[in-house]
Amino acid sequence: MVEQNIPLIELLKEEKGPILIASHENPDADTLGSALALYLFLKKKGKKVVVGCKDKVPHFLDFLPGAKDVLRLPVDDIFSLAVVVDASGFSRVNAEVKAFRKARIDHHIGGEFYGEYDYIDPEAPSTTALIYRLLCAWDKSAIDEDIAENLYAGLATDTGFFKYSNTTAESFELAKELVELGAKPNWTYVNFAERESINKLRLISKVLETLTLHEDGLVAGITIFDRFFKETGCEYSDSEGLVNYPRSLEGVEVAYAIIEKPEEKIWKVSLRSKGKVDVAKIAEELGGGGHRYASGCKIKANSYEEAMDLLLKAIKKGLEREGLIKYAVSQST
Ligand code: 5GP
Ligand code: MN
Repeated sequence: MVEQNIPLIELLKEEKGPILIASHENPDADTLGSALALYLFLKKKGKKVVVGCKDKVPHFLDFLPGAKDVLRLPVDDIFSLAVVVDASGFSRVNAEVKAFRKARIDHHIGGEFYGEYDYIDPEAPSTTALIYRLLCAWDKSAIDEDIAENLYAGLATDTGFFKYSNTTAESFELAKELVELGAKPNWTYVNFAERESINKLRLISKVLETLTLHEDGLVAGITIFDRFFKETGCEYSDSEGLVNYPRSLEGVEVAYAIIEKPEEKIWKVSLRSKGKVDVAKIAEELGGGGHRYASGCKIKANSYEEAMDLLLKAIKKGLEREGLIKYAVSQST
C-alpha cells in the first residue's frame, strides 16, 4: 500500500469539537461503510463524533457494524468539522449540515471542493479504500473486525464483488489485508445477496415488464414508477441494483433505470456503461455526476415523457461522442 501524506489526519487528530461524518442520500455500501468505518475509528480515538444520513438505513445495509448508530439528518447541532464521504459534495447529502469546517473524502471525478483537507482520488476502487489508507497512515492497529467489515463491504460492492473494471491488483491486495483484519467475504456476500424479501422479487417482476430497448439495442432501460413500490410494499431503497438487469443484455452499451420520486418532484436516473461510453458525461449534462461506468442524476420534468425525452437525448449524444451512432441529436430534433 502506498504511503501517503493525508493532511486531513492532522486535522482530525487535533479536533476537540464535535465531528459529523455524513454519507450521501439513498446510501449504498461504499458511502455507509466509509462513514461507519471512520466513525468507529474516531470513537476509539476518543473523538466526539456522530455519523449521519438523510435516509433511514435500508434493510440491505442494516447488517453493517455500527449501522444502528446512524442519525437521521438534518440535526440541529453545529459541528466543528463535517466530513462527507463517497459523494461529490455536501449537496449529495441533501440535508442541511452546519459546520465551521467541511471536508470531503471521495473517489468521484469533479464535484465540490472544500480546501486542503479534502482527500480525493478518482483512481481508488472505492471510498473505503481511501478510508483504509487514511486509517493505516494514522494507526493500523486500531482497525478492528467491525471497521474491517465496513471497509470490505464498500470495496466488494463498488467493484461488483471484484468483477467491474475498477477491480485492480490494489483491490485484491486491499481485500486480503481486510480479511486478515477480520472481514468475512462469505458473510458479506450472504448479507447482500441472500436476504431479499418476497416483496422485492415482486417489484423486480413489475420492473422487468418495463424493459425497453433503444438505438438498435445499444441502449436498454427500465422504469420504476412510484406505484410499483406501493403495489409491492417496497421502499425506494429496493430499487438499488435493478439497473443491472438492462445492463446484462447482450449488445447493450448503456443501461439506465429511471425512478419516479413524486415527493421530490424529480426522476432519479442511474446510468451504467459496459465500457465504450462515458456515462459520467451523460449524467453531468443532466446536472448529476459519477464515474465513467456508473453515474446518476436527477431530472426535473413535468411528465414521464418529458423526463424520458431529456434522458434519451443525452444518452444519444453520449453514443454519438464515441462514434457508436452518427448525427443522433440533429436527426431527432
Ligand atoms: P447510482 O446509480 O448507484 O445511484 O449511482 C452511481 C454513481 O453515480 C455513484 O457513484 C453516485 O455517487 C453517482 N450519482 C448517482 N446519483 C447522482 C446525482 O444525483 N448526482 C451526482 N453528482 N452523482 C450521482
Ligand atoms: Mn463509491
